[in-house]
Amino acid sequence: MMSRVRVLKWVALGLGLLLIGLWPGLVENNKFWVTLGAQAAILMLLSSSLNLALGFTDLVSMAHTGIYAVGAYACGLIVTRLGLDFWLALPLATLVAGAVGGLMTLATLRAAHLYFAMVTLSFNLILLQLAFAWEGLTGGEGGLIGIKRPALGGQRLDLNQYYYLIWVLVLVSLWLIFNLVRSKFGRAFISIRGDEATAASLGVNPFKYKLISFATSSAFAGMAGALYAHLNGFVNPALGDSSGSLSLFVALFIGGVGTLSGPLLGVIFATGIERLLMVGGDALNKATNTASNTSYQALAYGLLLILTMAVLPSGIVGTWTKSKAGRKWSNFLAQLHPLPKPQELRVASSGLHIENQKPSTHNSFTTENTEVSQLLTRNPVPTDNRQPITDNLLNVSGMTKSFGGLRALRGVDMQIEPGEVRGLIGPNGSGKSTFVNVISGHLPYDSGQIEFGGEKLNRPATYQLAKRGQVRIFQAAHLFPNLSVVENMLAGFHNHSRQNFIEAALHLPHQREEEARLRQEAVNYLALVGLSERALTLAGSLSHGQQRLLEVARALAVGPRLLILDEPATGLTAEELRGLSSLIASLKQQHISVLLIEHNIDFLMRLCDRVSVFEYGEKIAEGTPAEVQSNPRVVVAYLGEPETIEESKVRP
Ligand code: ADP
Ligand code: MG
Repeated sequence: MMSRVRVLKWVALGLGLLLIGLWPGLVENNKFWVTLGAQAAILMLLSSSLNLALGFTDLVSMAHTGIYAVGAYACGLIVTRLGLDFWLALPLATLVAGAVGGLMTLATLRAAHLYFAMVTLSFNLILLQLAFAWEGLTGGEGGLIGIKRPALGGQRLDLNQYYYLIWVLVLVSLWLIFNLVRSKFGRAFISIRGDEATAASLGVNPFKYKLISFATSSAFAGMAGALYAHLNGFVNPALGDSSGSLSLFVALFIGGVGTLSGPLLGVIFATGIERLLMVGGDALNKATNTASNTSYQALAYGLLLILTMAVLPSGIVGTWTKSKAGRKWSNFLAQLHPLPKPQELRVASSGLHIENQKPSTHNSFTTENTEVSQLLTRNPVPTDNRQPITDNLLNVSGMTKSFGGLRALRGVDMQIEPGEVRGLIGPNGSGKSTFVNVISGHLPYDSGQIEFGGEKLNRPATYQLAKRGQVRIFQAAHLFPNLSVVENMLAGFHNHSRQNFIEAALHLPHQREEEARLRQEAVNYLALVGLSERALTLAGSLSHGQQRLLEVARALAVGPRLLILDEPATGLTAEELRGLSSLIASLKQQHISVLLIEHNIDFLMRLCDRVSVFEYGEKIAEGTPAEVQSNPRVVVAYLGEPETIEESKVRP
């Protein structure tokens, strides 16, 4: 059965290639239709490049037609003015467009979402004005003319030959884009799309990967433009007009943003509609004896688009994958590349495997721990040249943070030793989450000092801390709900992945080996929290408790020295709680420290070596669980009468 699906895939691909190959013959070498076929290829590349930025990285670019024009002008100028060959001009133009896109990202350094759209729109206008105004270079409104089709072996290509050349180059580019999306780079892009703060907490430098995404996307857009310049024979400013980006966005949205095949199907669909309307319009012209019905055509086009979007809100591919049949199909396809089985964990007998957990396993810490230890020492790739830390792992002093007039932290000190499990308790609003947010770089602080791993850190970024081994999970769930469980896991291995851009784009053996290894490790970590059977489910459809456990497993994958858990036990069943308990206990053996914020006092007191207590942004007590529980100030402020500790947990 599996092989039948594989055959089906190849047959579909083969039919596509056959159609591309036979197209000029099918249309009897009609120039119009051959050109249309070549344009479709170029548009597919352009919308796939936009998809890389917009669909996969959530960079809403309004500049892609402008960058497309940059590629076209660059190639045209290099060929006509510098007299260089197409084969040199094409890569150069691609690089120029990539550089322009990169500079654009640098200029928008911290611009979020809609601002990014605004800034790129402005850039598009500027590029357009440049094309108009810089007549000496660009030929102004009249454009750049005399761009000939490329030559091969001294022989200028005819239209059909150039058509084939375009398709070959486009297909190769699409293959590169596909590979990138499915690599470490794609995972980083998709993490950023999901949530920047989460991506950073997994060690992804959001700015670096946005830059990579946008520059790569721009390079491909520019290449599409360059190919178009030689097809069209001339370039004028209209090419970069942002109103021209309409059909680009249309194709992408109809096909499905953020899906690999969406832009391709979208282009076929949108081009098809446009042609049909034109044919219909001609017929209408004849019937009504009027010269033109173009405005009706535009109207009909608009209406059809609205209708399509109403019926297919996530585009053709997006709507299909979300449908029942689509999910069945993708499950079916997933069996083509079955996930490996978890290694050496003897999950069935492990106390950590929640489904098989017997009530008595609560006491079998030792066996569980050895299994967990095995896994943690087999971290996929050695994390870095970490020196063993003998002193304090974390040393925070005088930490102060205000929100407007509210003083959330008032000079908090805290030291955590390697391998220590530290509890942090305090009434709601006492500043626990704020403390975690400032020490992990998610919030700027007013004053104070942070040392981590013996290093004084001056307002470090979250991703830098994650790289150094300070990893946290958030109080609210921060998974990527639309990705599968195993894809969520894989995102956690970012820092361990050594594949570079070229290896990823070309899907070279070294990269493939690494991907296989990471998949294996992902499954191992999932087994650790009893989720290996759910690896292919969407993370968003897990129970609340399972989502918490997945977050813990993903945080472990990052390679923590200090794992910060902000209320991890919320919503866990008693059995899941026991699993988490033994997991935390076992981290200690690996000299991994834990900072545990938890309202479940029972759970916390049993696990922690020491407990710190916050009240109104101040640390009011610190010591062993026993010391803290008998501290009069704590009793008054928080715990209430010792025997009513549990009930007092939600007291404001
Ligand atoms: P805890 O985690 O101990 O329940 P928090 O750290 O979440 O407490 O909150 C401490 C105080 O800071 C609360 O009064 C809360 O309302 C306030 N606070 C937290 N985050 C923000 C924010 N982003 N903006 C304004 N006030 C905040
Ligand atoms: Mg909190």
